[in-house]
Amino acid sequence: MSLSIPHGGKLVDRVLQGDEREAALYRARDAKKIPLSEVGVADLEMIANGAMSPLTGFMGKADYESVVQQMRLANGLVWSLPITLPVAKEVAADVRLDEEIALVENSNGGAILGILKVAEKFEYDKTREALEVYRTTETAHPGVARVMNQGEVCLAGEVWVINRHPETTFVEYRRDPAATRKIFAERGWNSVVGFQTRNPVHRAHEYIQKCAMEIVDGLLLQPLVGETKKDDIPAALRMESYHALLQNYYPANRVLLSVFPAAMRYAGPREAIFHAMCRKNYGCTHFIVGRDHAGVGKYYGTYDAQKIFAQFKPAELGITTLNFENSFFCKKCGAVATSKTCPHDSSSQVSLSGTQVREMLGRSEAPPPEFSRAEVVEILIKGLRNG
Ligand SMILES: [Zn+2]
Repeated sequence: MSLSIPHGGKLVDRVLQGDEREAALYRARDAKKIPLSEVGVADLEMIANGAMSPLTGFMGKADYESVVQQMRLANGLVWSLPITLPVAKEVAADVRLDEEIALVENSNGGAILGILKVAEKFEYDKTREALEVYRTTETAHPGVARVMNQGEVCLAGEVWVINRHPETTFVEYRRDPAATRKIFAERGWNSVVGFQTRNPVHRAHEYIQKCAMEIVDGLLLQPLVGETKKDDIPAALRMESYHALLQNYYPANRVLLSVFPAAMRYAGPREAIFHAMCRKNYGCTHFIVGRDHAGVGKYYGTYDAQKIFAQFKPAELGITTLNFENSFFCKKCGAVATSKTCPHDSSSQVSLSGTQVREMLGRSEAPPPEFSRAEVVEILIKGLRNG
C-alpha cells in the first residue's frame, strides 16, 4: 500500500511565489475588488493549497450543473459540492469576461488574497441547488440559508493566491496537503486514516479512531476550525482538548493533529464525499464515516452519509471509507462497543447526545468517565465557564 494519489492525479498548487506573485500583486492593486465571504476565503485557500484538487478555480456552469445533478465534474470525476463564487447581479454586471478581479478580505481593510480570471458568469437555480445538495429547501438548514442569502450570479474561472489568508490561530497545526504527505512519508506511513470532527473527542470517537488505527499506520485527526454553527464548542477549546487527549491516550508517532480549513456546509451525505476527496488529497488512504456525518437537525438518515459512497466505484473514489455504527460504553461488556459487538440492551449502555453533553458541561457537571476522559472534561468545563 502507498499514500493515496491526489484526486484527479495531481496536487494542485495555485499559490504564487516570487516574481509571478509580485506581478500579480501589482495588477491586483488596480483591479476591481470583490470581498469574499468566510466560505469564499476558505474555498480559495483550499483550491490554492491543493486540498480541493483537481479544482483550480471557482466552478463554471458545466461543472456546477454536473455536480449538482450527478455529483461529478463535467469530466466525470467524483465531486459532490458546488464550489462557486456567487455575487450580486449588480456586481456581476460590472465584470467583463477575461477580466482579472482581485479577491479581497471582507474585513482586515480589504487585504488582497488572490486573483480570479473571469472565464464565465452564470445564473443558477438556488431552489434546485438546495434540493439536490441539501435535500431540503428549509432555511432552518444553515447550508440552505446561506445559499438563499448569497448572490444570484456565479463568477467562474481560475484563481491564484497572492497572499495566504493571515492565520492567527492554531498556526502550528495548519498544514497543506503537500506538508501532511511529507510528514506521512517521513514517518514511513503507507496507510493513513482521516478523521473529521467539529466536536470534542469523547471515548466513543476515541474507540472508533483506535479501531481504525489497528489496521492502518497512522491517524490524521483533522478537526474543522472554520465557520461552524454557533452552538458548536469553540475551536480553541476543542484544540486544547484534542491536545490533552492525544498526549495522554495516543502513541505520539501514530497520530498527526492538523486543522481542516474548510467551511462547514452541513450537507450531510454529499459533504461526507467532499470530506473524503479532500482527505485523499491530504494523503489519506482511509476515511472514517460515522453516524450522521456532517449532518444537522433531522435532515439526513443516520447512515445516509455511509450509503451514498456505494453510488461510486472504489477506483473512482480512490479512498476507502470505514463505516462505523454509533458507539457507546457498555457496562456489561466493560468496554466501548457498538451494536455490532455488544449484545446488551440500552439499559447497560452509557450514551449521551451532543446536546446533553454540552448542557452538562455548561453546568460544570462532568459526564461519566465511561463517556469522557477526565483530562478532556476538565478543559471543556473550565473553557466554557470562562467563555
Ligand atoms: Zn455490552
